[in-house]
Amino acid sequence: MSKLSYFGETHRLLRDTVSRFVEREVLPHIDDWEEAESFPRELYLKAGAAGLLGIGYPEALGGSEGDIFQKLVFTEEIMRAGSGGLTAGLGSLDIALPPIVHFGSDELKQRVVPAVLRGEKIAALAITEPNAGSDVAGIQTRAVKEGDFYRVNGAKTFITSGCRADFYTVAVRTGDKGYGGVSLLMIEKDTPGFTVSKKLKKMGWWASDTAELSFQDCMVPVENLIGVENQGFVAIMNNFQNERLSLALMANGTSQLALEACLEYVQDRKAFGKPLSGFQVTRHKLADMATQLEASKEFTYRVAAKMDNGESVIKEVSMAKNFATDVSDKLTYEAVQLFGGMGYMRESLVERLYRDNRILSIGGGTREIMNEIISKQLGF
Ligand SMILES: Cc1cc2nc3c(=O)[nH]c(=O)nc-3n(C[C@H](O)[C@H](O)[C@H](O)COP(=O)(O)OP(=O)(O)OC[C@H]3O[C@@H](n4cnc5c(N)ncnc54)[C@H](O)[C@@H]3O)c2cc1C
Repeated sequence: MSKLSYFGETHRLLRDTVSRFVEREVLPHIDDWEEAESFPRELYLKAGAAGLLGIGYPEALGGSEGDIFQKLVFTEEIMRAGSGGLTAGLGSLDIALPPIVHFGSDELKQRVVPAVLRGEKIAALAITEPNAGSDVAGIQTRAVKEGDFYRVNGAKTFITSGCRADFYTVAVRTGDKGYGGVSLLMIEKDTPGFTVSKKLKKMGWWASDTAELSFQDCMVPVENLIGVENQGFVAIMNNFQNERLSLALMANGTSQLALEACLEYVQDRKAFGKPLSGFQVTRHKLADMATQLEASKEFTYRVAAKMDNGESVIKEVSMAKNFATDVSDKLTYEAVQLFGGMGYMRESLVERLYRDNRILSIGGGTREIMNEIISKQLGF
């Protein structure tokens, strides 16, 4: 491995495997799945059988271990299918499982994790509520202990894979107001009192399902508590670090596809008797786009390397997410502009990239919340 590269032979082989998977199993169907606003459940099974869902998880739970760059390679290659919704839907396990893996009891881990990594079951993370998004410590879904059960009442919204998940990692209030009263519970789909109240229609990420959930006197066994009661907030915050890295990678992947589409289009499309690439303003636009993307990728990789090294990157990962999404905001905007009217047509990839991109600076903590975190780390 070159001293200047974060990727070695293992990563190269994995990249080939994921790339072939995308070419064979995803690319022929992705346009139809986008229009259908769903992808087949069977895809989880195929990804599980190919060992792709287990990357980064302990062998004892059915995973294949691996460093952070293996996970990163997986995200980059899945993004090459050009569907943020597919990446988010197939990847919802990566926000739902880590709290269980890190803080759950052995019994809970064995019950949930291996089946999800095999693709037989789907996992979702449910934190956001109709009245509490950025303010995670303000969640109101209440879980009251009654003997061997928690009685859960409340609602969640905007939950990725929310319609068809089997296991939900749910933030609930078990204690007083604020972050010290938050716990995490694993709630199973068929638990009486739990319903998927609505499938939500979205601007982008069409291939993913996004749901509103309702809990009405939903009785959850106490053994489904993840970690220690009233200490769920720390687990949620730890979990956000990986999610933010992943969103930065999705932003870079979006920018990469937008840039590649433009590089091709400007050679084919002619105006005033020459290709668009014949205009200096176009070439300079592409040069700026390529420069911004290169800087974003390098910074994101650097942050990933620090995470892999066990360093605290609370500030840096928030910066990477904001930087990468600033770049993808600009690049997807410019891509549609360069494509002209064709950029507004559903048949153009850049049209989807533009829509899919918009969530990246909102989900997993908004740009403003990232800046709050960064400024706190700067001492304010
Ligand atoms: C497609 C999609 C998928 C999602 N998937 C999931 C999921 O799987 N699981 C899950 O739990 N959640 C999920 N979310 C929810 C997502 O994480 C939240 O939407 C996000 O955290 C923002 O919360 P909010 O929507 O309530 O916005 P709000 O918190 O209401 O914020 C509204 C605006 O106010 C700003 N604001 C808020 N507080 C401050 C402040 N202190 N300072 C300055 N500005 C502030 C925000 O930046 C934003 O611009 C998803 C959302 C979408 C759209």
